[in-house]
Amino acid sequence: MKADIDLEIGRKTFASGLLPELIAVLRRSRPGDLVALVGDEESVGPELETWCRFTGNPLLEATVEKGRRRWVFRCGAVAAAGGVPAEDGRPVGTRLWLYTNFDCNLHCDYCCVRSSPTAPRRELGLPRIQRIAREAAELAVKEIFLTGGEPFLLEDIGEILAACAATAPTTVLTNGMLFTGRREETLRALPRDRVVLQISLDSATPELHDRHRGPGTWARTREGIQRARAFGFRVRLAATVSTDADAEQFRQFLDEEKIAPEDRVIRRVALRGVATAGVALVRADLVPEVTITADGVYWHPVGAEDADLLVTRDIFPLSESFAAVREAFEREGEHAHKLARIFNCA
Ligand code: SF4
Repeated sequence: MKADIDLEIGRKTFASGLLPELIAVLRRSRPGDLVALVGDEESVGPELETWCRFTGNPLLEATVEKGRRRWVFRCGAVAAAGGVPAEDGRPVGTRLWLYTNFDCNLHCDYCCVRSSPTAPRRELGLPRIQRIAREAAELAVKEIFLTGGEPFLLEDIGEILAACAATAPTTVLTNGMLFTGRREETLRALPRDRVVLQISLDSATPELHDRHRGPGTWARTREGIQRARAFGFRVRLAATVSTDADAEQFRQFLDEEKIAPEDRVIRRVALRGVATAGVALVRADLVPEVTITADGVYWHPVGAEDADLLVTRDIFPLSESFAAVREAFEREGEHAHKLARIFNCA
């Protein structure tokens, strides 16, 4: 993981001069900066982890490279400063995410789950999704989000969407580039009052979008948006951006296009998957949104193949996997509270 600040600490430990170095580095950093420490004392690890927790500078990574230890921590919180949309406090389990397949017709350079045309398909599959939808109906799930890779690569995406939409209003995330031929027929058959299309468009003009997603993709996505609207679908536009300036430009474009506030999503690139830059997020930054993939149940869709966000490999019964996420969230909260108390008294 690339850092904004690299600090060589040699054989320093908390007992021998490391703390003043950390304080100095915090003073010259900005919120969200990543700091890498490279040193030779293994004992620094557990103490650094405790220091990171107590001071609210989350430890993101600990590795050994050529016999030397390297730790990366993030300076402070990112949720507000980093532009990641704040969660609105919805109860855990009311929003359900399903990763339908993982393979994709695109290979965007910031994809948080490493999707691409060569990524192996890891399908939840229609029978499993039908069971999830049935069980979700008993669990007060209020909205379902489907994401791929690209869900419209699946032959049976129509049946998958119909099963989900029968349980709750369903939004499908798509790059909007495949709405022709048999897929157009599939799209046309979907219930407009229960299915929303969230289409990824990163910028008002092709340059930025195509740089991250591939040449010609902006134009094809614009066509897809027009087709989806012409078929009578509600379309949300979702941009993934790297800077405040890019976000502001896209906001102006949305204003000009008269896109309703509820149909706008602007989020920052997350430092996950194949992204080499972006907002570094840890579990404690994210209010959980139950996310199911072929590999298990995850804390949040932004890291749906990352070990630190895996909650359980067992999807069924859904009531138990939902309970596992809630319990993990409660434990996380208790832990933070305990640390806050310890920190306040120290
Ligand atoms: S960001 Fe979306 S469209 Fe791009 S590779 Fe990942 S899943 Fe595919």
